[in-house]
Amino acid sequence: MADTNTELLVRRLREAVGAEGVVTDAQQQAGYTRDWLGKWQGRVPVVVRPADTTETAAVVRICRAAHTPIVTQGGNTGMSGGATPDASGAQVIVSTTRMNRVRAIDPLNNTLTVDAGVILAHAQDAARQAGRFFPLSLGAEGSCTIGGNLATNAGGIAVLRYGNMRDLVLGLEVVLPDGRIWDGLRGLRKDNTGYDLRGLFVGSEGTLGIITGAVLKLFPQVSARATAWVGASDLQQLVALLERLRAACGERLLAFEMLSQDALDLVLQHVTDTRAPMAGASPFHALVELGDTAPHGLQDMLEQALAQAMEDGLIGDGAVVAASQAQAQAFWKLREGISQAQVRAGPVVKHDIALPISALPAFVAEAGAAVRDAAAASGLAARVINFGHLGDGNLHYNVLLPAGLAPEAVKAATVLLNRAVHDRVAAFNGSISAEHGVGQLRRDELRHYKDPLEMEMMMAIKRALDPNLIMNPGKLL
Ligand SMILES: Cc1cc2nc3c(=O)[nH]c(=O)nc-3n(C[C@H](O)[C@H](O)[C@H](O)COP(=O)(O)OP(=O)(O)OC[C@H]3O[C@@H](n4cnc5c(N)ncnc54)[C@H](O)[C@@H]3O)c2cc1C
Repeated sequence: MADTNTELLVRRLREAVGAEGVVTDAQQQAGYTRDWLGKWQGRVPVVVRPADTTETAAVVRICRAAHTPIVTQGGNTGMSGGATPDASGAQVIVSTTRMNRVRAIDPLNNTLTVDAGVILAHAQDAARQAGRFFPLSLGAEGSCTIGGNLATNAGGIAVLRYGNMRDLVLGLEVVLPDGRIWDGLRGLRKDNTGYDLRGLFVGSEGTLGIITGAVLKLFPQVSARATAWVGASDLQQLVALLERLRAACGERLLAFEMLSQDALDLVLQHVTDTRAPMAGASPFHALVELGDTAPHGLQDMLEQALAQAMEDGLIGDGAVVAASQAQAQAFWKLREGISQAQVRAGPVVKHDIALPISALPAFVAEAGAAVRDAAAASGLAARVINFGHLGDGNLHYNVLLPAGLAPEAVKAATVLLNRAVHDRVAAFNGSISAEHGVGQLRRDELRHYKDPLEMEMMMAIKRALDPNLIMNPGKLL
């Protein structure tokens, strides 16, 4: 873009959203142009912050007329660089953070209608105040937005019970790439009037339009919880325990998280105020949580189910049921501290993968061997940090490289390690992108592994909705 064109664009955008809706100062843009991991750095002439859907539509029309690509951004907590612009200076960021109104709540229909820029924790609060429960829960819930959750089809810790974001949305409002507004804000559980248009935008990572509003599903409030830490001598034990708890506790099983001993050690080493829940080491650990609308009996149910599992030889290394809320929180701190611990420990090659739950033990054995071979080929000491949402088959199968390793060496090792892990994922019929999105991190990997016919159908949808390819170019596809 020539400078005069850029100036004209910024002027038009300022006219559309007002002075408080544009950020042109490079220092003030810093929180938008860089991702939180510090992996990607982009450059834009302007960050636009529309206050509502009408302003968003005007912004899109102006950008379309100027052939200016749009990178939509919510809370900027994504893990795959999807919300970071490129370094050309030719793209603009449209931030949804000023669109943060709870629009309506309907307790009888169990729905909550919000602007896309509403922070996830605020949506949870709004549901709670109405005596209801919005179950999406993840480490970034204090900063990520409903629009970002939808655009990445976020998962988190309760997918096992409630599904991921795709399962939690009934209606959407979207500004299309030509600036028209699609009002699909319906709170219906049945609507067979044709193609699932709503589903197209879930997981679209800003490539098909800007989500500006959503109707979310609510559930009865969970008034009691029981939490336990379990040690296992192999992964097969945890897979068997998951099945056992599903049978014994049914819908009450809210979370079944897994950490390898290496992942736990990393947290104990790098995160303050943490300590191991049980004496001695176990190859694998599980953090299990039950929840119920009825306040009594949950603790007993969990204790009995675990005692029976131990008696039957399902659990090798024991279990502890949290005796207080503080102890339960201490367990969760260990699970949630892994991201932070990894950042402190050194360069990490991340894999966000999904597998059939039954295939997890065999996958982990084979992938471990493949990683060892790939690391040996690069002459590196690599440590697998394996953790994730075992209850829904999602592993964060990460590889920690030596601290201080030069960026070029990290890059070279990443290529080898990605191939080693993702080839095994493909062999087990899994997915190389489970909940963090493809963004720019896994775009090349997606092209390598996705069925060409599926890629062709996705491109056909992209071209039909965004023929000028202005929505988040360089991401996902
Ligand atoms: C500590 C931590 C823990 C996390 N744990 C989990 C977890 O357990 N599970 C999980 O799934 N994720 C997790 N994440 C990742 C992240 O929080 C989610 O991907 C979240 O859904 C992103 O929301 P956001 O508003 O920050 O989106 P952003 O990061 O701003 O954007 C993400 C993508 O969505 C697009 N987008 C954003 N808003 C819109 C919109 N309104 N319309 C169209 N496109 C849009 C962007 O263009 C980009 O492609 C975690 C992140 C952190 C930092």
